[in-house]
Amino acid sequence: MSEGAVKKEEKPRKFQAIRGTRDLLPPETALWNRVEQTAHTVFGTFGFGEIRSPIFEWTELFARSIGAGTDVVSKEMYVLGLQHDNPTDRDLAHRRETLMFMVVSSSDKSTIDMFTLQTRKFCSDYEAALGKELVYADIGTKVALEYLKDSISYLVEDLLAQTRAGDWQERFDRTVALCKQYLELVEPTIALRPESTASVCRAYIEHGMNSLPQPVKLYYLGPMFRRERPQKGRYRQFYQIGAEVLGGSDAPAIDAEVIEMVMTFFDRLDLQGVQLDINSIGDRNCRPKYIELLRAELLKVKDQLGPDSQRRIETNPLRVLDSKLESEQGIIATLPRIADHLCEDCATHYAAVKHQLKMRGVFFRENWRLVRGLDYYMRTTFEITAQGLGSQNAVCGGGRYDGLVELLGGPPTKGIGFAIGEDRLILSLQESGKAPAQQGRDVYIAWMGERAHATAIRAAKVLRKAGFSVELPPVEQKFGKALGQADKLGAKHALILGDNEVSEGLWTLKTLADGSQAKYTEPDLLEHLRKTM
Ligand code: ATP
Ligand code: MG
Repeated sequence: MSEGAVKKEEKPRKFQAIRGTRDLLPPETALWNRVEQTAHTVFGTFGFGEIRSPIFEWTELFARSIGAGTDVVSKEMYVLGLQHDNPTDRDLAHRRETLMFMVVSSSDKSTIDMFTLQTRKFCSDYEAALGKELVYADIGTKVALEYLKDSISYLVEDLLAQTRAGDWQERFDRTVALCKQYLELVEPTIALRPESTASVCRAYIEHGMNSLPQPVKLYYLGPMFRRERPQKGRYRQFYQIGAEVLGGSDAPAIDAEVIEMVMTFFDRLDLQGVQLDINSIGDRNCRPKYIELLRAELLKVKDQLGPDSQRRIETNPLRVLDSKLESEQGIIATLPRIADHLCEDCATHYAAVKHQLKMRGVFFRENWRLVRGLDYYMRTTFEITAQGLGSQNAVCGGGRYDGLVELLGGPPTKGIGFAIGEDRLILSLQESGKAPAQQGRDVYIAWMGERAHATAIRAAKVLRKAGFSVELPPVEQKFGKALGQADKLGAKHALILGDNEVSEGLWTLKTLADGSQAKYTEPDLLEHLRKTM
């Protein structure tokens, strides 16, 4: 038996995109570009400027703004581990190496004193690190931390007492290992952004944008990350296009103009079946009272609700209104409505927003059950749905979030914004046939012969410079085969360059749709193409 027959060939592993992520390919990417270009154009006409923020931030930024109790923060966020560029960590590692070197390499008195000094310094650095505040930790982590801290203190004392005694190195290593464990627990982590409003507010504060003319109007686009169950219109890496208005005023006209801007954008894209729902969810004055009332009413009908809603009575009763469960709809219809419980300021604001929308010719539906998933919203909230998306039909969510900037350590600031789900927007455009067909080449250059090749290269340069999309085959082909290729690529024209064309200085252009062809000089050809495209 030959060796080859015995040995099983090991096939290299085939990689696939990670669940919930996907590749966007041509021609679909052309549609993505069109959508994004339209956003740049439309938002620009409303005076918005683009902000590009990092795709990861401190976990705490999201926890504080979105709310530690929300699904997004507690279940869906991609949190990354310890920061390896942390200078304290690097410092400590370096000092440890220096100490180790002293232990093995010296014996005179001065180095021993030096060593003791360094050990003390090392330990006090670690102790300082151990004093760090814990931001988010569950009970289990807290207990583990206390235990670690005790063990470390004990080891440090022991270390100092023994200095260079026999098992110093082992104790030292154990101390370092425990300290590392501790640091891993207390060190702030970073997270992939699940949304961008928090980042925009962080940037507003960090760059002192409150001293710019107010309000500051920013928009962004880019990927967001949430660990959700992937399905149609729901991915783990998805894309949002969003905008925020930050500043001193909460004038209802700002709310209305922001909504008008999204609707203009959708209109420009010819998105079908667009439905705008609005609501006011009150503010710090009136919402807590309403939530208590709602909770009390929900408790009365608890037995008739499903397990999810039962749990939400305690955690977030507003979210019960969001329920899609058929069996709960009858009960929800009887619940108290926030519109009847708004404080005077909120009621006035809401009425003015509706008036302002009407002045702008923006059609809306009031939906008292519209509550948003993120904690920071107040007063105006809105959601836009579009056709062809099944149950994931929300293409845009937004609302007012006065006070969020302050919560993140900035000056008192009003804010409103929205985020469009770009993946869903694209899906809806595709489903309604609004996606552009695959874009073929304008010109396929069929050439034969060395001299013709040189002319073909020059022709490609000239045509591309004039903005035409040109396919220049890298090797010579018989004209029949070249025309077949041109057809397959959906080219509009074939430019035929052979010996004759080159010597005459006249180029043959064939229009593939009707098979007609004619000869042109170089300038005439450009002129002709410009007219026909
Ligand atoms: P949903 O109720 O659909 O989960 P949400 O309330 O979590 O949406 P927001 O956080 O307000 O959504 O985000 C705004 C928009 O971003 C949504 O209306 C949706 O179009 C889009 N979006 C949110 N999560 C995803 C996801 N996992 N995949 C694709 N698009 C998403
Ligand atoms: Mg969600």
